[in-house]
Amino acid sequence: MNSKPLIKLPSHLLPSDGRFGSGPSRVREESVRALAEVASGYLGTSHRRTGVRSIVSRLQEGTAELFGLPDDWEVVLGNGGATTLWDVLSFCLIRRRSQHLSFGEFSSKFAKAVTAAPHLEKPQIIESPFGTHPLPEASGEVDVYALTHNETSTGVQMSLSRPEGAPSAEGLVVVDATSGAGGLPWSSEEVDVYYYSPQKCLASDGGFWVACCSPSALERVEKLQDRWRPASLDLRLAIANSGKNQTYNTPALATIYLTLQTVEWMNSNGGLAWTVERCERSAKVIYDWAESSEYAQPFVVEPLQRSRTVATIDISEEIPALEISARLRENGIVDTESYRALGRNQLRIALFPVIPPEDVAALCACVDYLVERIPPEGSP
Ligand SMILES: *Cc1c(COP(=O)(O)O)cnc(C)c1O
Repeated sequence: MNSKPLIKLPSHLLPSDGRFGSGPSRVREESVRALAEVASGYLGTSHRRTGVRSIVSRLQEGTAELFGLPDDWEVVLGNGGATTLWDVLSFCLIRRRSQHLSFGEFSSKFAKAVTAAPHLEKPQIIESPFGTHPLPEASGEVDVYALTHNETSTGVQMSLSRPEGAPSAEGLVVVDATSGAGGLPWSSEEVDVYYYSPQKCLASDGGFWVACCSPSALERVEKLQDRWRPASLDLRLAIANSGKNQTYNTPALATIYLTLQTVEWMNSNGGLAWTVERCERSAKVIYDWAESSEYAQPFVVEPLQRSRTVATIDISEEIPALEISARLRENGIVDTESYRALGRNQLRIALFPVIPPEDVAALCACVDYLVERIPPEGSP
């Protein structure tokens, strides 16, 4: 690939920013500048003092506003990201047995973590082929339903609702929303824990988790308090610290500040309704483009399941998608490669709210430009 001559994209076709990765994903320049501006009074100061705690408090309030959370919900924060939270949940929220919808890399990883936990029964795992999602099934056998708002590996989104007939205090609905939170609609009536890492849809950095918890979830955590767990994975400690606008151990202050910037940017523009509409527009741009293209098509067949925050686009076999991604990269447009484990000839493009729909349109034009000019396989 490297020996082939560069295909330089004309500058008028280029998007305003070349970052289209699904996580870590594009961070707004404005957020980084805002952080730089407050840095001397914020970075390097105590997370137990009012300076940082007031930022944490604004983040908690802004998050509750963004999602329209009822007053009796808590916005709980901790270190380690969504992957760590899976372990937290297996110690502190699942009583005996959970049900998992497994339809891609991330949803299957949570199921795997729970399967390996010696103190829990083997979970119910409901699978469906990649590119689709299964539905939860009400069951008297389970006390947690583990859903994924957006499966980042395959670009499949699902709408969130309690399984029909499931009593809510018995079967808590727990949603991994890492690549959907802030871009996809949901209702707090249908969910008990809505959690995510902020380096995807929320345009911040990693190593941190946010979990919006209903009163039923908070009550469950209290009931399970006697079970042994490492302190670093103790949701009860995290809840207690979050009540004081703190975390159990030291967080990355920059991550918190960048997350707050995105949340306040979203709220000041019209909140979740605005971001959802923006992601819908980006999704329409890319799926319409793929459907009318000779060589591209949406990977997800069912239009309602096509993610509005992470698009997966199959490319005809005669054009290697990896070469398209490599040539985009030579032009400063990065991280359009498909999820490695999926193994498809595919592009994966983030449509997160900070990415303007115009940039998604520009990217499509850039791909067309390259595909017209990439020499066929085997040519010198
Ligand atoms: C990226 C991702 C994770 C893992 O997040 P980390 O911050 O790396 O732990 C979990 N779930 C989903 C849906 C993701 O997209």
